[in-house]
Amino acid sequence: MAALLTGAVGLTAVAGCGDSRSERAAARGRAVVAGQQPRAKAPDAPPGPRSIDCGKVACVALTFDDGPGPYTETLLNELHAANARATFFMLGENVGHFPNAVHRMAMEGHELANHSWSHPQLTTMSSADVRSQVQRTQEAIRKASGGVTPKLMRPPYGAVNKRVNSAIGMPEVLWSVDTLDWKYRDTARAEKVAVKEAHRGGIILFHDIHKTSVAAVPTVLDGLKKKGLTPVTVSELYSTDKPLQAGVAYAERMPPAPPKPAEPVAPTRTVRPPSKSPTSSTRPSSTAKPPSKSATPTQPAQPREAGGEGQPATADGDTRH
Ligand SMILES: [Zn+2]
Repeated sequence: MAALLTGAVGLTAVAGCGDSRSERAAARGRAVVAGQQPRAKAPDAPPGPRSIDCGKVACVALTFDDGPGPYTETLLNELHAANARATFFMLGENVGHFPNAVHRMAMEGHELANHSWSHPQLTTMSSADVRSQVQRTQEAIRKASGGVTPKLMRPPYGAVNKRVNSAIGMPEVLWSVDTLDWKYRDTARAEKVAVKEAHRGGIILFHDIHKTSVAAVPTVLDGLKKKGLTPVTVSELYSTDKPLQAGVAYAERMPPAPPKPAEPVAPTRTVRPPSKSPTSSTRPSSTAKPPSKSATPTQPAQPREAGGEGQPATADGDTRH
């Protein structure tokens, strides 16, 4: 979709140092709750995005939806072991159940993002209800993380329309690689699909509420590394691209436009036809349209009926919980 690339940090993994990390995280959580006046720059401040130019580096963004959940801290251990960062699109209704996981995400440099409060299809709701889904979740994440306000939103099922875009009021992040992990719950399959389909500038979709998905991450991180891809957060993926715009959906960062084919050379600039934008002649105008199979600004890369993003399965009805 839209546009240009952006990078995210990635993952890799190895599970390990779980207990001690968890304990430290828990301790941090307690400290934050107890401290009435967090010092300005306490050691507890999130590290901030890394300086990675995904216009030059082959980046790929790993994203995890529908959590946090019981396996999220295991995933954080895996990411930590691989020195990788990811983006978590969380449901507000789950955030309060796993505040330590959310706090750890922030402190360990991952990107915290909004996936609505309760995973409804936003196109069926009033604008006021959409705003409420988004804002309540922003508040829950802010509270659990110790002050981080998400900048990105992923609409459940990738379902939006113009009205919903406007009500969301944030850049929307879709995906370009759908592992369908929620559907198959098969670690080996998730590993294979994620690594095989991962591409520069891509955004890979997983769901950390499934144990089988979290178990796939170490191998996926390893596979990405072998492909020369650097896992980054979504904001890192796009950090050297045009700023993401509210109400616009992004499914991957597009590669730089190839050099423009020889065009009758205008002797001087002043001769150019007035209808052409002098500043945008060498790039696709942007975020608005991905070239090929990439999702359009308002559509996920995968057919929605394929369950693009954890679509609730009518069969067992528990794809998300
Ligand atoms: Zn979802």
